[in-house]
Amino acid sequence: MGDNNRPIPREITRAGDHDIRILWKSGHESLYPARYLRLKCPCAGCVDEWTGRKVLRPQEISEDVAPSSLELVGRYGLRIRWTDGHSDGIYTFGLLRDLCPCCLG
Ligand SMILES: [Zn+2]
Ligand SMILES: [Zn+2]
Repeated sequence: MGDNNRPIPREITRAGDHDIRILWKSGHESLYPARYLRLKCPCAGCVDEWTGRKVLRPQEISEDVAPSSLELVGRYGLRIRWTDGHSDGIYTFGLLRDLCPCCLG
């Protein structure tokens, strides 16, 4: 997987209508479909903090959910405000790097 321990984005942009693209300092490029990221929201409302179990139910998330704004949080993460009104999750760069679709299984 690489990117050392602390992945750092060089560029975060939108891709297409819905998707988010991150170009990492390592040169690796990640493309995240919007709904995929929405379903991975790490906030306490979507994942049980104690058990790590997912509380969010995919059928409750619209097929065309999209990010309405992206906001950097300090130097470690990204807050995504979604068109369904949800904005509690802070996606750390480490999490985002781990979620890269092209690097998973
Ligand atoms: Zn959430
Ligand atoms: Zn990848």
